[in-house]
Amino acid sequence: MTHSTAVVTGAARGIGLATAKQFLAEGRQVAMVDRDAAALESACAPLDNVLPLHLDISLPEQVDTMIDATLTAFGHIDALVNNAGIADFGPIARTGFDVWQAIMATNLSGPFLTVQAAAPVMLRSGGGAIVNIASISGHRASTLRVAYGTSKAGVIHLTKQQAAEYGNQGIRVNCVCPGPVDTEMAKKVHDAVIRQSYHDSIPLNRYGEEREIAEAIYFLVSDKASFINGQVLSVDGGFESTGIGLPDLRAK
Ligand code: NAD
Repeated sequence: MTHSTAVVTGAARGIGLATAKQFLAEGRQVAMVDRDAAALESACAPLDNVLPLHLDISLPEQVDTMIDATLTAFGHIDALVNNAGIADFGPIARTGFDVWQAIMATNLSGPFLTVQAAAPVMLRSGGGAIVNIASISGHRASTLRVAYGTSKAGVIHLTKQQAAEYGNQGIRVNCVCPGPVDTEMAKKVHDAVIRQSYHDSIPLNRYGEEREIAEAIYFLVSDKASFINGQVLSVDGGFESTGIGLPDLRAK
């Protein structure tokens, strides 16, 4: 199947914007969804074949609007990338319930709501592919990430539930776990100590680029991944696969 239309959430900047541009470069039409109106407007201004949708994917009625508006503009939906996410790092003792709920609402409830709403529409036109964006923080626990890391661990399992249920109906669902990428989100939550720790813990010894995450997302949506379903792909320079010792080894 050719995935000629895509919905990308959190598309106004960072990994989402790079992903939208990747779909456009491959000749697709893209509904670019974001709750930051100004950023969305400036991101979409230079682009053709896009539908800017100023929406919050943590709210069920706005998710319905996202689907309806995309159908009105494009007629069908072939691909969905659940990229919108928020991060707020802090110790458990200082993570307020409001912060916990806000992170869960966008990072975990969002991909539940969007897939629930998009799947029947995708099935009407023969199926499609979905990629959920989790994080290496969903694989490996760390200090300060009780809400963010737990939400992303949830996204990893949600992906498997969605893949199990929709696979035989014609929708593949996979997950990408990015390593650190120097987006606005990372600038907000990665202090100097975290940055050094990442360099020490990543065999490739660097941050990733938005484009490198977008390439993996596009691959999983494309027909080249036609037998890949329910998988979790870390795009992280080797972070998830390694343990201790890299700084010592580099020093030798
Ligand atoms: P970013 O903050 O630069 O961009 C996220 C975009 O999502 C923003 O434009 C924001 O307005 C939008 N957004 C947030 N909540 C929304 C909501 N409820 N509804 C609609 N739009 C919403 O972030 P990024 O670094 O590009 O991250 C993209 C995804 O990748 C996130 O899910 C993030 O958790 C994940 N991720 C990022 C990194 C990293 O180091 N940057 C690492 C691992 C995973």
